[in-house]
Amino acid sequence: MRYISTRGGIAPISFKDAVMMGLASDGGLLLPQTYPTVTRQQLESWRQLTYPELAYEVISRYVDDISADDLKNIISRSYATFSHADVTPLIKQDGVYILELFHGVTLAFKDVALQFLGNLFEHILAERNQTLNIIGATSGDTGSAAIHGVRGKKGITIFILHPHGKTSAVQALQMTSVTDANVHNIAVRGTFDDCQDMVKELFGDLEFKEKYSLGAVNSINWARVLAQVVYYFYAWLRVTDGGEQTVSFSVPTGNFGDIFAGYVARRMGLPIDKLLLATNENNILTRFITAADYSLGTVVSTVSPSMDIQIASNFERYLFHLFGENPERVKGAFAELKEQGRISCSAEEMVTVQNDFCSASVNQEATLEEIRDFYAETGYLLDPHTAVGVRGARQLLPEDTARVCLATAHPAKFSETVERALGFPAPVPDSVRELYGKATRCDVMDADIEKVRAFFVSHVG
Ligand SMILES: *Cc1c(COP(=O)(O)O)cnc(C)c1O
Repeated sequence: MRYISTRGGIAPISFKDAVMMGLASDGGLLLPQTYPTVTRQQLESWRQLTYPELAYEVISRYVDDISADDLKNIISRSYATFSHADVTPLIKQDGVYILELFHGVTLAFKDVALQFLGNLFEHILAERNQTLNIIGATSGDTGSAAIHGVRGKKGITIFILHPHGKTSAVQALQMTSVTDANVHNIAVRGTFDDCQDMVKELFGDLEFKEKYSLGAVNSINWARVLAQVVYYFYAWLRVTDGGEQTVSFSVPTGNFGDIFAGYVARRMGLPIDKLLLATNENNILTRFITAADYSLGTVVSTVSPSMDIQIASNFERYLFHLFGENPERVKGAFAELKEQGRISCSAEEMVTVQNDFCSASVNQEATLEEIRDFYAETGYLLDPHTAVGVRGARQLLPEDTARVCLATAHPAKFSETVERALGFPAPVPDSVRELYGKATRCDVMDADIEKVRAFFVSHVG
C-alpha cells in the first residue's frame, strides 16, 4: 500500500514514511492510493474478534512495511491502556446506541488514535535510529491525549503549549501530572492563539525544523484516521449481532477526522446507511452539506469547545475524492478559499455530497436540552459534544434503523456544562479524583517566541 498527497506533489510513499511525514511535504494531506475492500463474508468472520484483533484485521490492510507480529504488538499495547474490556463498548439507551469512545486515559476519543500513534512513532524511530521532537499547541483535549500517547517513549520528546489558566482544571492536570522526563508542559501567559502562533513560527523556520527533527501531532496524521476506522467496524458488528439490519452513525464533528474515518469504513465495504455530520454553531460543514455553502465565518465559543473550528483540516481528504482525485481541482478550491473565503461545487458534486452525508447543526440551547432530556428519559449522562450528535440523530436519522451515536468524551471532562444543564455535576471517576493528589511539572512562560525557543533548545531529546 502506497500513500499519495491530495495536492499531487509527492511520489507515492510507504505507510511508515506517511506516518513520519504527517502533513504531506507539498502542503496536502496523505491518503492511501486505494481502499482495500472487505467482503460480507469476511465481515461475518470477524464477529468473534476482540477489539485489538479486529483492529489488526482493519489496520493491517493498510500496512505492508511492519511485520505482523510487530503490528499486533503495537496494537495490543495501545488498547491495553483502556479501562473497559471492550475498549469502545456499545450501549443501547432509549432507541439509540451510544458508542463510548472515552475509556482511554484522558477520557476523550482522541486516545483511540494517539495511543496507537505514540507506539507507532516509537517503533519506527527505533528501527531507523532516529529521534523526534514533537511540539504542539492545545486548548485542552489534543495536548493531553498526545502527551499520554508518547510519555516515556524512547526517541521522542514532546513540548505542549497551553494557555495558562484557560483550560479546564481537569484538562490542565491531565497534562501537568505527567512528569516523565520526555514531557514538557509550557503554560503560556496568553491565549490559545498565542500558543498556536508560536508553534507555527517554529515550524515555519525550516532550518530549525530540520535541525531538531520537529514533528506535529495534529489530526492530519493518516495513522490517526486509520485507528478510528476500526470502531465503525466494531460498532457495526455489535449492532448487527443483535439482529439490526440497517446501521447509521451520528458523529459530532470538528476537524472532520472522525467522520472521515466513517467514510473510509464505508468505502471499504462496511454497509453504513447514513453518516450524519453533527456540528455546533460553528456549522460551515453543515451549511456545505445542506446548502452548498462553504463560506468562512468566525469561530464562536460554545459548550462543545473541541468542535469550535471553522477550517476542518481533514476536509481536504474528502474534497480530493469528491473532485475525482484531481489534485489540480483541490488546489484550485483552496486558492478560491484564500481569495474569496469560500469553496464552490457543481450541482453534480452536491448530489454526491448529499449521498455521502447528511448533516445537522445543534445550538447551545438544544445541546443543553438534549443533556437534560436524555438524562430524564434514560438516566444516562451525555457530555456536550456527544449531546450534539445525539440531538442530530434524533432529528435526522430514521427511527426504524439502528442509530449509533459516537460518544467522544466522558461527561466528567465537561462537568461545568453538565451542571449547567442538570443542576448537578457529573460524578467524578476515580482516575480524575486521583489527579488532584499527583505531583505536577509545568513551566509558566510569557508569550515570547524567543523564550519558548530557548526553552526548547535546552530541553530537546
Ligand atoms: C476532537 C473532538 C471532537 C471532534 O473530532 P474531529 O475528529 O476533530 O471531528 C469531538 N468531541 C471531542 C470531545 C473532541 O475532543
